Amino acid sequence: MNDAMQERLVIGIDLGTTNSLAAAMTRKGPRVLRDQSGEALIPSVVAFEHDGSTRVGAAAKARALELPDRTIHSIKRLIGRAGDEVDAEARRLPYRVRRGPRDLARVLVDGREYSPEEISAIILRSVQAQASAALGRPVTEAVITVPAYFDDAQRQATKDAAALAGLQCLRIVNEPTAAALAYGIDGSRDGTVLVYDLGGGTFDVSILRIQGGVFRVLATAGDTHLGGDDFDALLAAELLADERLVQAGVTAIGDDPFVRQTLRRAAEALKFELGNAEDAALTVELGGGREFTLRATRARFEALIAPLVERTLQSCRRALQDAELAVAELDDVVLVGGSTRVPLVRRAVAELTQRTPRTDVDPDLAVALGAAIQADVLAGGNRALLLLDVVPLSLGIETMGGVVSKLVLRNATIPTSVTEEFSTQVDGQTAVDINVYQGERERTADCRKLAAFKLRGIPPMPAGLPRIAVTFLVDADGVLRVQATERRTGLSAAVQVVPSFGLTRDEVRAMMADSIEHAVDDMTARELVELRNKGLAMVRGTRRALELSDLPPDQTYSVRKAAARLDKLLAADAGPDELKPAIEELSRLTAQIADDVIGSAVKKALGDSGLPAPEENAP
Ligand code: ADP
Ligand code: MG
Repeated sequence: MNDAMQERLVIGIDLGTTNSLAAAMTRKGPRVLRDQSGEALIPSVVAFEHDGSTRVGAAAKARALELPDRTIHSIKRLIGRAGDEVDAEARRLPYRVRRGPRDLARVLVDGREYSPEEISAIILRSVQAQASAALGRPVTEAVITVPAYFDDAQRQATKDAAALAGLQCLRIVNEPTAAALAYGIDGSRDGTVLVYDLGGGTFDVSILRIQGGVFRVLATAGDTHLGGDDFDALLAAELLADERLVQAGVTAIGDDPFVRQTLRRAAEALKFELGNAEDAALTVELGGGREFTLRATRARFEALIAPLVERTLQSCRRALQDAELAVAELDDVVLVGGSTRVPLVRRAVAELTQRTPRTDVDPDLAVALGAAIQADVLAGGNRALLLLDVVPLSLGIETMGGVVSKLVLRNATIPTSVTEEFSTQVDGQTAVDINVYQGERERTADCRKLAAFKLRGIPPMPAGLPRIAVTFLVDADGVLRVQATERRTGLSAAVQVVPSFGLTRDEVRAMMADSIEHAVDDMTARELVELRNKGLAMVRGTRRALELSDLPPDQTYSVRKAAARLDKLLAADAGPDELKPAIEELSRLTAQIADDVIGSAVKKALGDSGLPAPEENAP
């Protein structure tokens, strides 16, 4: 095949908290793309030098000691995050982070602000360069993976980072889904998989259900601050407590950054060795010509990290519980993330799941390899494999009375598009507010607001007459676009959900748990709001109908009376038990005149769900 006819090339990228890498499909299957020295992993670190230059990857990581507040690592913790979440992460990071526009995270270096997207773009550019060099041709398209619990804002921000790097991100794929793909779990067979992912600073467990080619995330759990780095810290503290170091006056781990860094590095190197040996030794230089040979045994190391490993198992149990699954119902258990190389971790997962977890794909590379498989599908290579994902939380808009009308339900397969029709709630209303919410609860106050926009310029009409079609489109990456169109006039307005709020995994969990717990309350509250809305619309509609009609008073007497009675109940904040029969009565009495005299337009005014009016349009 000559160059002009070369196949389309799409790479898969694992943009990790600690390390990033790329892979691509070849005739022999997916393979990772390495640099000249054979290294695939690029540390997800960017260092800003005093002379204005930047370093990325291993070169940047090496600067952490000298430039602690200019060496930016773990940027994935901040991407698409806003508000309190930013503050919580910022407290743990050695560089400066503050809230910027729309409360989104900004990194501060030399008085210049960087968005997490910009920093991620620098990392992605480096991944792209390594990939292009390895493949011998420029790479411009990619599939990028994110944790399963990433919300719309975090996914969109990741796509934006790719765009900044000059990469077109064709698809965002969940990390556990990619890991499953790398293990040959391609949707051709139904099953349930537990993906245990222990990286440098994060632990994620996901349970996937594969059914009819659709990958559904049944449950996620984990710990956003638990990983291999914590193993290193524990071992480093242990090394420092060594009698000889104490005698030589090397104390308190935080005192000397150089000693601290050296010990951390030594601890990580010893940890690697202890994967294959019962004991390990390493000689380090701790300044002033002081050399020490540090030793560690696997038994001691395991005793140190055992409580952390136990915490990961607790998350696994919780995920199983959330998915309502017993261990025996799992078809596969897959280990990913560099820290799953630790023998104790493997044994612990084996014991919990009562089977040998699958480790035949390199745990550092699995996510990238899976992304490459998906990339190949999008490039047109393997059409047999169609990957589908699902919406993690329901999406809807606010309707009258602060209720969320859900258009896209949780776990709906994406891409998806849903259109529903709404109307106005006030006569002569020329604009409507479209407030977009995410969550499982019934009331807006209990859900997360994602976006808001107005549809203006509706010609004044009686309430209920405009026909406003609201379309929710969730694309294959889980990014939401909302459009509102007034059907009579063709007027239209749209919004793409911009990163204004990120949900933490814990919040997603909490929102799910909440929605179950409050299901009954919510239903009653919602029912009441809907009844009241309906009642108000009916009283209004009936009075207008009567004004417009020239029926003799004796024919409308019972209708007037029923409307007055309902109006009184509404004013007195009556409950559903009283409202319901009153509404039914009025509805029975008006059905006929609405039909006969006013026609279908008024009938509509008597029933439809109204959209809130902006301030300027308030009744
Ligand atoms: P992330 O997904 O967060 O970017 P990785 O999956 O790349 O992270 O995992 C990085 C972590 O894996 C580091 O803490 C590193 O020390 C650890 N790790 C890598 N190789 C080994 C090994 N052979 N034994 C133990 N830990 C390892
Ligand atoms: Mg990872």
